[in-house]
Amino acid sequence: MRAAVLKAPGVMELDDIPDPLTPKGGALLEILACAVCGTDLKMREHGHRDLDLPRVLGHEMVGRIVEIDRDSSLAEGDEVQLWPGIACGKCRPCQQGADNLCPEIGIMGFNCDGGFAQLLALPKESFPGGVNLLPGNFDPAIAALAEPLACCINGQEQACVNRDERILIYGGGPIGALHVLLAELHEAAKIIVTEKIPGRIRELRRHTSAVVVNPAEESGKALLAAEIGREGVDVILTATPKVRVDGYLQKLLSPGGRICIFSGPSPGNNQEIIDLSSIHYRELTLCGAYGCSSRQNRQAVELLISGMIKAGWLITKRTNLAGIDDAFLHSSQRKGMKSVVCMS
Ligand SMILES: [Zn+2]
Ligand SMILES: [Zn+2]
Repeated sequence: MRAAVLKAPGVMELDDIPDPLTPKGGALLEILACAVCGTDLKMREHGHRDLDLPRVLGHEMVGRIVEIDRDSSLAEGDEVQLWPGIACGKCRPCQQGADNLCPEIGIMGFNCDGGFAQLLALPKESFPGGVNLLPGNFDPAIAALAEPLACCINGQEQACVNRDERILIYGGGPIGALHVLLAELHEAAKIIVTEKIPGRIRELRRHTSAVVVNPAEESGKALLAAEIGREGVDVILTATPKVRVDGYLQKLLSPGGRICIFSGPSPGNNQEIIDLSSIHYRELTLCGAYGCSSRQNRQAVELLISGMIKAGWLITKRTNLAGIDDAFLHSSQRKGMKSVVCMS
């Protein structure tokens, strides 16, 4: 099969590699769509804590079942969206529904092969919770947005986002935008996004109700302060690795406010000075979010299928597998939003 193989940091090549076999108790899938994530860009350039090489990247996957080796309500020909985790199902986090925190977890596209290929071996552990049936006529590229949407669901669950709250999102890329759509669904009282790239600012203003502030503009800082107001915001979500999470950020919160460190902080940006007294006196919460659970992934699929989240506008580039470099380039240039590699 054809596959985009990351051989070393900076070296990703289209190759013919042996077709995977159908795993015992699992299934063989023909990939229909796989979206490019910021983490894919990071992994291609610098590697990643959870990445083994050589590797087929891609964890935002939708495919069609070609062969299935189990008794299941799913059958050959079914189109499915996949949760990329391969969890043990037995440990405490798995039992409690936080299977993204399984200490034994494998992740497709990280430490086993992912979706930038024609075929995918889906292990038995993915069934039933990690495999989500799609309606036959549903656009696989949109379904591929379920995984990043699910990660945002996780972030907003960790930060206990409630209706009527004031939300500040740092970064208006695809993840920031998905956070906005979810916050709208939660009936946020106000959503503020900081973003510097004009194209992204335009898209956010066109498709969402968020107030978008450009911190690079001269008036940006004052504008942001005015939008936050004296009462502060209830929740801050970081959707860019560049935010300094420190006492300054804590001051933007209202009492009882929460900060969710959603984006993996960039190197050297993880030892900020936290104001512990303000955490105590103002009852602030600092939380993190990494990936998503299979339950959150399923919820995201339902939100996309039902149209409660309309995310089609986020796809600003579609390529085929041969055009994967263009898809990565579109994402790394950050002019548009999301690239999806569609196989047919
Ligand atoms: Zn991702
Ligand atoms: Zn587990």
